[in-house]
Amino acid sequence: MSKPNFSLEVFPPKTAATTLSLWKASQELAPFKPEFISVTCGAGGNAPGDTTKEVALVMAQQAHCPVAAHMTCVSGSREELLQLARDYWQSNIRHIVALRGDMPGQERYTPRADGFAYADELVAALKEVADFDISVAGYPEGHPDSSSMDKELEYLKKKADAGANRIITQFFFDPEVFLRYRDRVAAAGIKAEVVPGLLPVLNFKKMTAFAARCQTSVPEFLHKMFEGVEAEDIDHRLLAMNILSHQITRLHTEGVNFFHLYTLNESMLTRHVCRWIRSAF
Ligand code: FAD
Repeated sequence: MSKPNFSLEVFPPKTAATTLSLWKASQELAPFKPEFISVTCGAGGNAPGDTTKEVALVMAQQAHCPVAAHMTCVSGSREELLQLARDYWQSNIRHIVALRGDMPGQERYTPRADGFAYADELVAALKEVADFDISVAGYPEGHPDSSSMDKELEYLKKKADAGANRIITQFFFDPEVFLRYRDRVAAAGIKAEVVPGLLPVLNFKKMTAFAARCQTSVPEFLHKMFEGVEAEDIDHRLLAMNILSHQITRLHTEGVNFFHLYTLNESMLTRHVCRWIRSAF
């Protein structure tokens, strides 16, 4: 089997400290030559104050690797998003992670009247702007708004049929959850590649709260592993590294050759994973 490859996800920083942390991470991680680095957009999307575009453009110059910009339906009107897409294309950013997003401060999602309602509409519109490489999101344990996995796969197929060629998943811990999902995606006739999204556990307590919001299950053995281990302990990092290497090894034996790492703008753990992926296989 060929050597596995990976992409990295970063988010636009909001403070001076997180700006420094992002640039430190990108300097340390770029030498591992990720396939691409993706830059998320905040809940408010690409609205004024959001620096996704700025960060994506600087990252493209500094990291010497392709950059993908995230775009969400909630963040602008149709025309605003299409203009942003044209700007990206002209700036040589040819990969978009196309998402619906969530309405800031609202429990229930209501599409904006002047916008794209769901990610499949955004994908189709982007494809009309130019021949972007398009990634979309997938949810191995179901999206919180979803009524059933069958319905969700139906909508996922719409995204693929509209032109998405890669499905990056929400984070998960049990590799079998991903493998079952990949089978269901294939059985639904979806040809796009399914890429596991892997989250380094930088802080177990914070991660469990986030996982609950995302509908990601945290296996019991992880609770036992991290019991009494504080985030700043070296043991915490070693355990986190262990989880990632187990996930990657297991998935690789099942033919998974591409991994998307959520860096959380922190290079320490991701750097070890990159080094390990590059040397172990
Ligand atoms: P969709 O694919 O549009 O689906 C959302 C829900 O609506 C699902 O329940 C689906 O079943 C349902 N649905 C889909 N189409 C239809 C339809 N036509 N009719 C009725 N129901 C439908 N959020 C950000 O704000 N910024 C980011 O940068 C960001 N990056 C992400 C990257 C990844 C890899 C992932 C997994 C998520 C990311 N998110 C981001 C979170 C994402 O925006 C939320 O999870 C959001 O709630 C759903 O977006 P989506 O693109 O998956 O939506």
